[in-house]
Amino acid sequence: MSRTQRSDNGTDQRLVPLIGLVAVCAGIVAILSILDFSADAPTSVAQLATVTALVSMITISATVKAPIRIGSTTQAITWNETAIVIGVAVAPTSWMVLCTGLGLIIVVRLLRLPLIKAVFTISKNMLLAAAAGTTLTLLGWAWPPTELHHMVVSLPAAYVVLVLLDEAIAIPVIAIASRTRILRQFTTNWDLRLVGYAVRFAVTVLTLVLLRAETWLLVAVPPLALSLHLAYSTRVRARAERQAWQRLAHTTDALNVVDLDAVLHTAVAQAANLFSADEVEVELEDVGRTVRGNSETVTYDGSPDEASTVSGTVIPIELKGYDNTAIGLLRLRFHGPVKLSEREQYTLRTFGSALCTAVRNATAYAELNRVAEEHAHAARHDALTGLANRRHLLDRGAERLGRRRTEGVTALLLIDLNHFKEVNDTLGHAAGDRVLTRVAERLRAAVHADDLVARLGGDEFAVLFHALPAPAVAAHRAETLLGALHEPIDLDGMRISVEASGGIAIAPNSGGMTELLRRADVAMYQAKRAGRRIATYAPTRDTADLGRLALGGDLPRAVAEQEFTVNFQPIVDLGSGEVVAAEALARWRHPARGTIDPLRFLETVERSGLLPAFAEAVLDQSLLAVRTWREAGFDLPVAVNVSPRSLLDARFPGSVLARLRAHDLPPDRLVLELTETLTLSQLEVVDQVLGQLRDAGIRLALDDFGTGYSSLSVLSRIPVHELKIDRGFVTAMETSAEATAVIRSTVDLGRSLDLVVVAEGVESEPQRRALWELGCTAGQGHLFARPMAAARLLSALQQGAEGRPGTLAPALHDSGAVVRLSPGRRSGPRRPERLPHLPA
Ligand code: C2E
Ligand code: CA
Ligand code: CA
Repeated sequence: MSRTQRSDNGTDQRLVPLIGLVAVCAGIVAILSILDFSADAPTSVAQLATVTALVSMITISATVKAPIRIGSTTQAITWNETAIVIGVAVAPTSWMVLCTGLGLIIVVRLLRLPLIKAVFTISKNMLLAAAAGTTLTLLGWAWPPTELHHMVVSLPAAYVVLVLLDEAIAIPVIAIASRTRILRQFTTNWDLRLVGYAVRFAVTVLTLVLLRAETWLLVAVPPLALSLHLAYSTRVRARAERQAWQRLAHTTDALNVVDLDAVLHTAVAQAANLFSADEVEVELEDVGRTVRGNSETVTYDGSPDEASTVSGTVIPIELKGYDNTAIGLLRLRFHGPVKLSEREQYTLRTFGSALCTAVRNATAYAELNRVAEEHAHAARHDALTGLANRRHLLDRGAERLGRRRTEGVTALLLIDLNHFKEVNDTLGHAAGDRVLTRVAERLRAAVHADDLVARLGGDEFAVLFHALPAPAVAAHRAETLLGALHEPIDLDGMRISVEASGGIAIAPNSGGMTELLRRADVAMYQAKRAGRRIATYAPTRDTADLGRLALGGDLPRAVAEQEFTVNFQPIVDLGSGEVVAAEALARWRHPARGTIDPLRFLETVERSGLLPAFAEAVLDQSLLAVRTWREAGFDLPVAVNVSPRSLLDARFPGSVLARLRAHDLPPDRLVLELTETLTLSQLEVVDQVLGQLRDAGIRLALDDFGTGYSSLSVLSRIPVHELKIDRGFVTAMETSAEATAVIRSTVDLGRSLDLVVVAEGVESEPQRRALWELGCTAGQGHLFARPMAAARLLSALQQGAEGRPGTLAPALHDSGAVVRLSPGRRSGPRRPERLPHLPA
């Protein structure tokens, strides 16, 4: 009979119609057989013995089997087909059909097969008996066969018909039950199966020959069949085993990848294949991830909590490595009940440990990658703001400069925040950090996608513009960017507006990024000096001063060797041209670099710890100058600039007063110019210092008024005597109504608070007049004099303008008039004459 019998423990609903059809056909065949049998029933003892023999033969042949599991389906090789063909050869077909049915009923009872499986097995084999028997009958077979061709043609034909029908019925059923493709079922082990058929056919023929000749020789058939069966099933198992090992080896190879996703997805598919599981699940505890799927697809990949559970048999195994610590679980699921063979359990453990190793490798690799990426990121980014750092900027810039010019212009904007240090000093570093972070955010939001924003350190930022249509566009973009910073920043309810200076440089033809950066730096300092927001690099103004940072090392010597000197810029009564005071402006006479302006070295000094020494040197020279002028008959106060940092030093007022006493000067001969920003401070020490200075009779001035923070609130907290209108407003006055408005309101404010208002940067006669007409009484600037040495200023004073000692400019025509001019008069004729400039 059939070479295999498949016993399917879990029944798929799709099998029911198929098995039903087989059962109906078998039923018809059974009815026909019963009709035929009753017409030709066995009567003799011999015939009854034959029937009994046939039934036992079927029973025995169906019980001896070698099981092979596929999924939750077990296939078993049996000798049914041999028994059936022998039966139909020696007895009428109807007998054999009924004997087969009866024999198998006994078998299914003995094996306690589930109903559907029992029905299928019985029906199929009855149909096979009917088909084989009918084939023999059609070919004129009769027992005992008389002619050779019956043995050579008819018998094989019947056998082939039986085998083909068996395959045709069984294979689709197995394919459905085990969810594999029909074609695959046909081709699996086809060679072994063919050998099996041949062997069993040979046994069939041998048995029939013996039956015909010497009946007693039949005794030899069962041992022969049994040994053949054992040999065959051993081979089948051996091969299955070998294939399983090969697949395991193959599988562990496939797991040998470094990507965790690939490891998990491969593991699921491979395990499903290897163990014919309906579903495989890998759960990683540490990672918190579950991947589930079958041999074809991944059906779930996510958190273990959300993974639904599926019914059926679950075989779990811990994923353990050599060190015996488990990293998770591998679960095989089967629709029906399944018990793994010993070999399969071993394979499963091996697979589990291979998977564990693969997961560990992949995790370690990912971690390594992550750390490497993090390092790479950290090496190229600023930790505080997340912006690119200097190195990143240089790299990217070099790459851009290396490209062809057809891509447009590359330009660099260097941004330096004004007064940032004061924010840090007075509000603390946390506040400073927040300002920097906000600035970074704004810059990032305001640049074009292709531009790179970097923080170079401290309060210095840079933007690399890429592919600009024309060089001039850089200035325009820079304006927008700095404008974006201007919007006040909220710091714990305090509104701080960040001012910044920007220097632009267009990519040079040679020198690369270093040169581009240097040029932008030069431009930025030009902007600062010129009191403008932005300057573009101009080669003619480039003094190639590379040493801003290198200056630090020279400071101790500068203090010791008294390289710091002070120049004085007169402050003039705008109406009369009379000098009313002088501002002390520090200079560094560097032996190698010549005279260096304060904006280039102040920061270095303030950072160096030598600030008190420097401040004292400036103060000392200033007071000395005041004494000299005073003795020469010009009793002018001197205005000295004070670093915000000095105001954090509680000893500062004491040392100032000591200097005043040393020079024997009354305190009101000294004006201290404070930058607005320091007044942000809620620090008690600053209030104390300022209070002491003021109480001692020293005058205080607010420098750069209008550029900084909430000016009015500052005035209410710190009572000063003077306001200095920032040069930027004076410069912009002629073109900007807004600038004029700021000046006017400052003047009005000064008048109502009874403060002196000094305009800085007065460079032209029209500016002087306009300021005067706005009610501003004092000014300083190149129109009157550049900063100069004390002795030089004294001789200028002595000489005077138009022979009036103590003056540096002729009086305005209407300077005597107390009444301010109406707007109508302002556009009237102006004095054409150019005033003589004093050489600086
Ligand atoms: P500031 O207090 O606003 O000083 C005015 C600056 O404007 C000076 O630059 C002066 O040379 C320049 N200036 C004067 N008149 C004109 C003009 O008509 N047109 C133009 N374009 N500029 C004019 P300087 O001397 O380079 O000083 C720069 C800044 O350095 C000063 O700004 C002040 O904040 C600081 N500074 C100078 N000396 C000292 C000092 O001894 N101690 C401290 N802490 N800071 C100082
Ligand atoms: Ca000043
Ligand atoms: Ca100023």
